[in-house]
Amino acid sequence: MQEHAYQQCIRADCGETYALDEVLFKCHKCGGLLDVAYDWDKLTVPRNLRFFERRWGTSGRHLVGRADYSGVWRFRELLPFARLDDIVTVGEGRTTLQQADRLAGLLNMKPGCLFLQYEGFNPSGSFKDNGMTAGFTMARFLRRRRVACASTGNTSASMAMYASMAAPPGEPPVQGIVFIGSGKIAYGKLSQALDHGAMTLQIEGDFDACMRRVVELSDRLGMYLLNSLNPFRLEGQKSIMYRVLEGLDWEVPDWIIVPGGNLGNSSAFGKAWMELRQLGLVPKVPRLAIINATGARTLEELYNERSLRWNGGRINDEAIDRRYHEMDAAGQRAHTIASAIEINRPVNLSKALRALDLMNGVVRHVDDDTILDHKAMVGRFGYSCEPASAASVAGLHLLLDEGVIGRNERVVCILTGHGLKDPDATVKYHAGIDAKMAKWPDPVPPSGCMANYPVRVPDDLEAICRVIGEPTRS
Ligand SMILES: *Cc1c(COP(=O)(O)O)cnc(C)c1O
Ligand SMILES: [Zn+2]
Repeated sequence: MQEHAYQQCIRADCGETYALDEVLFKCHKCGGLLDVAYDWDKLTVPRNLRFFERRWGTSGRHLVGRADYSGVWRFRELLPFARLDDIVTVGEGRTTLQQADRLAGLLNMKPGCLFLQYEGFNPSGSFKDNGMTAGFTMARFLRRRRVACASTGNTSASMAMYASMAAPPGEPPVQGIVFIGSGKIAYGKLSQALDHGAMTLQIEGDFDACMRRVVELSDRLGMYLLNSLNPFRLEGQKSIMYRVLEGLDWEVPDWIIVPGGNLGNSSAFGKAWMELRQLGLVPKVPRLAIINATGARTLEELYNERSLRWNGGRINDEAIDRRYHEMDAAGQRAHTIASAIEINRPVNLSKALRALDLMNGVVRHVDDDTILDHKAMVGRFGYSCEPASAASVAGLHLLLDEGVIGRNERVVCILTGHGLKDPDATVKYHAGIDAKMAKWPDPVPPSGCMANYPVRVPDDLEAICRVIGEPTRS
């Protein structure tokens, strides 16, 4: 490990530091979250971000090449905690920024204003790989053979995939242990955890309960925790912002919009911009919009209705505790079709408040029907995504209507996961019996609804032609 990196409590009234190899996920002094911190003035950082571009074209066959091939480690000077030979990579982060002009048109935005950062291109199909490569690199440095996470699906899919490949030949395998709750889990994701051989435990409780258990047990069972509570994971997720910048030829966009679940991504993005600005590598910082699902909007409620703020690192913990108590007393559980963000106690809440502060952020919530309509819009005009990802585009729509985002501002929505993760939600939307849609011969669904249902036709030439609408040859 690098000598100029360490861990540090993010709370202003504490700031306690810990060595890089100390395994802890909350400050021992105050319970605050930890950052990976660097003595930047003792490290060599490229003066210009263009430096990173030339690493794209590698074949990835040798040690340096493998790191250069990764969309995360290509930027290793900006997450300088790992030594090259500890890096565990499977070629993650080779993702794309799509200029989505057709979708922009649908939202009355100008061409060149809307971009979709498609993280579904990652090997396990979600952005989680960006973080998992960094988490496994740390696990390898610590020589841990047992890793664990609580998951709504994608974290476990990603962790299981890395566990299946992390140990070099001749070394014992890495055991992955997954805690899933009784809430929704998309089958695409569950199938990955099972396929990659992770031990999969279904706990009779929701995600928030699983999270508590895995934290409680990680020490006792020697499991290295790979939830986004792990600050090393968030280091890897910073690279999503570097690639967005690269996709825009290093011009800073006006807005970044991201769905909010455990708020790891939001937190990582904030840290990325904080450091880029500190290092003088960008002239400004974009604004941040975090989008909750209506059925899991703890952040939105605390931020907008109770004015909870970062407040220079002195967060009003009582307000948070009070909210959690109210939720418990009312038996309130997170509930949304966007299972990846079905979380009521976001573990990175305080870091997300820091990101919102730095990036002059806003928080909104969108309901399930709106999410599904926007998911279908994304699919109609580009790569398909899973429901949680589409919350970002639904949030954009809302913020455009509110006038918070201008129609000629440059906006990047993060599409966090692949459409094939949750085909059930997609098919149900387009073809389900409860889909709000018309039936042929009146195939125009109500306005706003993008449903595209399969049409039943008799095995008859004329009937098929009538449906397709071509004149028949006589
Ligand atoms: C994990 C996940 C999220 C939520 O991200 P957080 O960092 O937990 O806020 C959103 N979308 C998808 C597809 C995910 O897998
Ligand atoms: Zn502390």
